[in-house]
Amino acid sequence: ANKSEIQVGNLDKHAKDHYPLCMRHIHETLKANHHLKHGCRLQYLLFLKGIGLKYEDCMEFWRQEFTKNIDEDKFQKQYSYLVKHCYGKVGSMLNYSPYSCVKIITDSVGYGEQHGCPYKQWESTVLKEKLESYGLRQENAIEISEMAQKGHYQLACGKYFEYTRFKENKNVINHPNQYFDESYGAIKR
Ligand code: SF4
Repeated sequence: ANKSEIQVGNLDKHAKDHYPLCMRHIHETLKANHHLKHGCRLQYLLFLKGIGLKYEDCMEFWRQEFTKNIDEDKFQKQYSYLVKHCYGKVGSMLNYSPYSCVKIITDSVGYGEQHGCPYKQWESTVLKEKLESYGLRQENAIEISEMAQKGHYQLACGKYFEYTRFKENKNVINHPNQYFDESYGAIKR
């Protein structure tokens, strides 16, 4: 797969076809609310950078969504900085790495926040219903929710990969960007 296809216009499709559940949920929350809380913004921006979305495109995507609710000036003052920061354009100019599953799973997630790992954060019925709404068969949604309830978050994520991608999950999911690359075809299974 060619990473030049990673453009703002096809992120909805990539979210549906190639994102792990954590990132698909954040993407859909952003598209629905045109806003994300700080922890969510950080988790998703670094992921977007990791899948190969260019800085200018990422800034435009962020601007397009946020300015559906707020004016351009407020966006530039309050929300553009984090995009620059994540891409190493300001501050210490560090090139921050996208978060691994272990980091996402162990970081604390406050009430009402949408980031983190859904297999850990969500109640079993919420998870099951979401999976079914994404087209999984009921028995497969139950299987994944039970794995999550037992604390096997990354294994549950691997099962979601199998049931949505219709191919075996040979590698343990350790990173949302690894999930994307494997789904998108950048890593051979
Ligand atoms: Fe995201 Fe990792 Fe959780 Fe999968 S296991 S949903 S990639 S944090």
